[in-house]
Amino acid sequence: MLALTREVRFALEAVRQAALLVAQIEKELVSTTLTKEDRSPVTVADYASQAVITAALQRTLPEERLVAEEESGLLRAPQSRELLQLATQYVCRIEPDADENSLCRWIERGNAAAEGRFWTLDPLDGTKGFLRGDQYAVALALVEDGVVQLGVLGCPKLTPGAQPDAKEQGALFVARRGHGAWVTSLERPELFRRLRVSQQTDLRQARLLRSFESEHTDVERIEAFVVSLGIEVPPQRMDSQAKYALLADGQGEFLLRLRSPSQPHYCEKIWDQAAGSLLVEEAGGKVTDLHGKELDFSQGRTLSRNYGVLASNGILHAQALAALKAIGAIPENEA
Ligand code: AMP
Ligand code: MG
Repeated sequence: MLALTREVRFALEAVRQAALLVAQIEKELVSTTLTKEDRSPVTVADYASQAVITAALQRTLPEERLVAEEESGLLRAPQSRELLQLATQYVCRIEPDADENSLCRWIERGNAAAEGRFWTLDPLDGTKGFLRGDQYAVALALVEDGVVQLGVLGCPKLTPGAQPDAKEQGALFVARRGHGAWVTSLERPELFRRLRVSQQTDLRQARLLRSFESEHTDVERIEAFVVSLGIEVPPQRMDSQAKYALLADGQGEFLLRLRSPSQPHYCEKIWDQAAGSLLVEEAGGKVTDLHGKELDFSQGRTLSRNYGVLASNGILHAQALAALKAIGAIPENEA
């Protein structure tokens, strides 16, 4: 059984409310937005989600620090006025007394230093997926001295498979270090099902999860990796940490984050990997960088001591690391 500690209860409920709100914004704004270039629904959803989670944190665990993706910079500028008003209207669905000032203050509260004990939040992970009507996630994690202790993912576009009612939409994932990984329904979080990674040993059958966006990865090297390992299943393209959730639930064997040739110095952000990586570890899988080093969350807002990410069911991890070396996925000066 999942022990509902104070932190677990807070994180589950805050992420659930934010993810349901983001799903409403998707329904009401994304489909009615006239041009594909208009990213305003993302901005509204980002700010609303971060504000709702920060308000809950302030109320429930007022001493805790938050390191969140969104900064308040542009929010108070005159050109952001309409977006701010719209975000505030959405936040009021959960925090009825909120106004534009409180929203700005909640966003600003996410600027804490990433050291010691802190929460880290991606209020809307997979913004491109959100705009396309594909996968996205709300991701919250608790980090203590560089180690992720608790992770929660709210994924409105995944099905939990936990309830007898197969029509249930939206999944809520939680992992606590040393206590396993679990999934429940986002709408009705009643039954929790324990997650277990796949036990696949045959590389030909291995399912690889990769970013949907080609500029977030290295498509040629993914192909070389697939060929090198003799994988016969086409890689699955998916946005956001929903990939980690699938891997943790045995619906994949590998998750690969390779550096894009167009951004060779890109460093992973902690809020993009913290919750998801713990889900996979607690479901029995393994998560390292491309060298095989554990992810180090003690270096501030980025994983600056790591290079890329390889997550797997554990069984196939060593073979994948060897293949990454063989295909030259790790540059000499990074080794
Ligand atoms: P994904 O959904 O796998 O494409 O990953 C989404 C996350 O990738 C977003 O939160 C972005 O912050 C992050 N991201 C942005 N640029 C890059 C990049 N060049 N390489 C890898 N990840 C990126
Ligand atoms: Mg993100």
